Amino acid sequence: MKKLLLLGGGHAHVEVLRQFGRHPMADVDITLVSPDRHTPYSGMLPGLVAGHYDFGDAHIDLEPLARFAGARFLQINAVAIDAAKHSARLADGSILNYDVASIDVGSTPPAKGLAGVAEHTLPVKPVKAFLAAWDALLDRVRAGDVRSLAMVGGGAAGVEMLLAMLHRITQMHVPRKTRFVLITDTPQLLMNHAPGVRATLTRHLAHKQVVVYCATRVTRAEAGALYTDNGTRIEADASFLATGAAAPAWLAGSGIPLNENKFININKYLQSTRHNELFAAGDCATMENKVYPKSGVYAVRQGPPLAENLRRFLRGESLIEYTPQPRTLALISTGEQHAIASWGVLSFHGNWVWRWKDQIDRKFMAKYRAPWRST
Ligand SMILES: Cc1cc2nc3c(=O)[nH]c(=O)nc-3n(C[C@H](O)[C@H](O)[C@H](O)COP(=O)(O)OP(=O)(O)OC[C@H]3O[C@@H](n4cnc5c(N)ncnc54)[C@H](O)[C@@H]3O)c2cc1C
Repeated sequence: MKKLLLLGGGHAHVEVLRQFGRHPMADVDITLVSPDRHTPYSGMLPGLVAGHYDFGDAHIDLEPLARFAGARFLQINAVAIDAAKHSARLADGSILNYDVASIDVGSTPPAKGLAGVAEHTLPVKPVKAFLAAWDALLDRVRAGDVRSLAMVGGGAAGVEMLLAMLHRITQMHVPRKTRFVLITDTPQLLMNHAPGVRATLTRHLAHKQVVVYCATRVTRAEAGALYTDNGTRIEADASFLATGAAAPAWLAGSGIPLNENKFININKYLQSTRHNELFAAGDCATMENKVYPKSGVYAVRQGPPLAENLRRFLRGESLIEYTPQPRTLALISTGEQHAIASWGVLSFHGNWVWRWKDQIDRKFMAKYRAPWRST
């Protein structure tokens, strides 16, 4: 019996589980290790915060999916991996040995160089902690205790999340108005998108009276305020971080080759560049010689080739290559049921774009809710 160990219930691993459930392999013992039973789907997170979706709409339940795959599900964090010994250590100290392992544990927003950040700001990931804090914040809003809310990070995730928060809070119709602030150290918002997308979003932000600071680096956080590199004090009763992706710290010391940003170096087969029996996908991994953003779209696209290569590796067959697509369609929601589509230099927007996005997202989630039914 060969042991396949899946660390993390991320966007690529849910597809691995689905594929192994649909086409079971004899003599393979699968274990999934992930801290939360419900894994969030990034595409629907802003809609969950905005109030368009409930928790179940935006999360995949790993327990039935693992059962479908014939996998054992251990609801716990992995804290270390020893690539030389083919073993992983879990948060309770137990050790799991593997013949083949795959890592899809995601990332968190980097907070390097930001003093006071751990105490006074909240990263949008891990999502479970963020959602708990968001619920607590809504109680503070109801109590009239949030005059200002700041988001640090001017990429799609930060802008989308701020607009989602603004929509939800506006819908609460509390007498005390909240001031919304968006801060980014980049010269403009949404640097990876076309000018048309930027212009539409900037209009939306202005219309909703969001105060935007570009080319401004937050250096320090304290209770009720953020401080920037140009000496500005920005009032913020609540501050959130969506500053991009940093690799999980526990990967260091694993013996796995990591790149300069501590992400796992993988080859075109989604395999560690040094350890053939170790695969990785999603935000925690970076393909050598390829440039592509850390986004859920890539993690999702890596799912099918990862599943295929894990199967092939277990059978001793040659592996298939994965090539990241040069560009992806981004559908960026603007809080209400309206979204902007961004595809290369093209951009268009409207309520119909949100409905289109909603259909795509619901179809994606249905695959993992009833994995036996979908193709
Ligand atoms: C607010 C926001 C909105 C976004 N919107 C979009 C979008 O619309 N489209 C898009 O393409 N991208 C979006 N992104 C980016 C997207 O969230 C990530 O790129 C995507 O989640 C990466 O998928 P993943 O599989 O690598 O990791 P994740 O989806 O983060 O999954 C990681 C899994 O590993 C588990 N895990 C973590 N640590 C451990 C551990 N130590 N041991 C075991 N398990 C562990 C986690 O619990 C989780 O189940 C958004 C990000 C944010 C923050």
